[in-house]
Amino acid sequence: MNAPPETTVPSMMKAWVLGDPDDIKLVDKGVPVPGKAEALVRIDAVAICATDLEILTYGTPALIEGGPPFNKNFTPGHEYMGTIAALGPGVDEFSVGDRVTVEIHAGCGQCKRCRMGMYTSCHNYGKNYGDQDKGHRANGFTTNGGFAQYAVNNINTMIKVPDTMSDEEATLVVTAGTSMYGLTELGGLVAGESVVVIGPGPIGLLAVAVAKSLGASPVVLVGTRENRNRIGLELGADITIDARNEDVVARIMDLTGGKGADYVVDCAGSETTVNQAVHMTNRGGKICLAAFPKKPVEFDLGYLAVNNIYLYGIRGEGRSATHRAMAFMAEKRFDATKIHTHTFPMEDLPTALKYARERIDDAIKVVVSMKDSHAAADAASEGAV
Ligand SMILES: [Zn+2]
Ligand SMILES: [Zn+2]
Repeated sequence: MNAPPETTVPSMMKAWVLGDPDDIKLVDKGVPVPGKAEALVRIDAVAICATDLEILTYGTPALIEGGPPFNKNFTPGHEYMGTIAALGPGVDEFSVGDRVTVEIHAGCGQCKRCRMGMYTSCHNYGKNYGDQDKGHRANGFTTNGGFAQYAVNNINTMIKVPDTMSDEEATLVVTAGTSMYGLTELGGLVAGESVVVIGPGPIGLLAVAVAKSLGASPVVLVGTRENRNRIGLELGADITIDARNEDVVARIMDLTGGKGADYVVDCAGSETTVNQAVHMTNRGGKICLAAFPKKPVEFDLGYLAVNNIYLYGIRGEGRSATHRAMAFMAEKRFDATKIHTHTFPMEDLPTALKYARERIDDAIKVVVSMKDSHAAADAASEGAV
């Protein structure tokens, strides 16, 4: 089913670039050349993330050449998969023609955090230009990303995709990897312990799926949208709580014999949900903050201290969690495609972004497929011979 390995790589490609805020253009750009420990990926599909929408409007958390990403010929997009088109010098871990999906961050590999496997917290974050080039990459954040026909990836950021997995599903592995990272950082989750996930966005829904696959019981999902809570049940939640018409903390206390949940993952990040998380966690339990609140949040710190509750922030998908998420997905332990709702061709990226932003037609994960754009490029180059 795979196309034969490409022997020639074009010198130019189609890529979306960010101009002023919320202004993206489809342009011709040079195809990047892979260096040591890197490969060139022909991108076949890319999923849109809420963080992409944030970057397009506000710039942050992208950081290009030490500053905002606007008008720097920067290509966003970070949840992509594709086919290896060329290898950098010395690379033998992959072959041309391999289908791969990617994680976002390749740390510098030399700082204290990278040496601990916490490359999403690299101390040289964004230092990849000029005299301070430490080799850090976070594609779609500090280096060019996936709204393009090609991108360069460090070998540590790529995972082979089994033939049984569709392109669309493969774009979701990094999202499941982020959920997996949250549970990994909390540490120590063993079968039979309770997990509550607040917020049924993509990371929350896949946190339900990952927690269930890890043996958590019960797995509870808290949300305010009925269709998303229903998908949560399909992904492995034992119980869903509609926060609009139930006292969430009282219900969790009731479900856990008055003790509270062992693990709580907050994927909403509001003052309400952070305080719910604090008050629904049992003594010595752990909370993962997986959302990025934009404003300071006031919460019951005293309750946290008195009850010996641990609080963990996570950014991204460190400690190779994406590889572990792929292990579950390759085994079909859960069906991540339940959160994939729409697919658009590459040239319709603005429409795809609109669907994701406005949640048109109950959009959750919107995927952009590059297949047609590659076919058009192949046909054009054959015509030129
Ligand atoms: Zn993302
Ligand atoms: Zn580092």
